[in-house]
Amino acid sequence: MSAPKILLVEDEKALAKIIRYNLEKGGYSVLVAGDGQTGLELFRKEGPDLAIVDVMLPKMDGFDFCRAARKDSRVPILFLTARKEEVDRIIGLELGGDAYVTKPFSMKELLARVRALLRRTRPAKSAPRRAGGLELDAGAHELRLQGKPVALSPKDFALLSCLWEADGKALTREHLLEKIWGPDRSMEIDLATIDQYVARLRGKLGPEAGRLITVKNVGYRLKLD
Ligand code: CA
Repeated sequence: MSAPKILLVEDEKALAKIIRYNLEKGGYSVLVAGDGQTGLELFRKEGPDLAIVDVMLPKMDGFDFCRAARKDSRVPILFLTARKEEVDRIIGLELGGDAYVTKPFSMKELLARVRALLRRTRPAKSAPRRAGGLELDAGAHELRLQGKPVALSPKDFALLSCLWEADGKALTREHLLEKIWGPDRSMEIDLATIDQYVARLRGKLGPEAGRLITVKNVGYRLKLD
């Protein structure tokens, strides 16, 4: 299951950079455009799962972007807006309650909106998978324990997804290291890192921690039945 793809259309470079950083840290893959026209081209070419669009943009503003994008797509659009009058126009576009965040906003707030919008639209592509009280929602990039979201770092999420996809089979620590850290591997990351992540992940799984099983001399597996 690939990470949800988000298109960010924002002309303020410093803001675009910090949003991109936070989305990537949240496990999303991000494309950035600095004006509406380029944004629309990317939107059509790349087919993102969600677009985050500033209202005031060079070449084509956020509203025109939205109208053009809506002609042949139902992908959710989240507006970034600076003024009350813009909010009224957004509501007029009938995009629903989650369709805007007002500047200045916190990254936490933005990520919560993104997750909420993706949860609504991505399940059609990938239904959440359950194991006992655990529910892995790859679409919304979220793990739920007895219905409540569990706070996981992107690496925790990747580790769990990787084990989940193995469908109960054991994976070696080398395999996990390669899959999850791959090219970002630095000197401090070694096989013991996997053990630390597994231990931490178990701590977050509460009563379901026993599903994450150590397979002696091999690595780990996730018990799904
Ligand atoms: Ca702007």
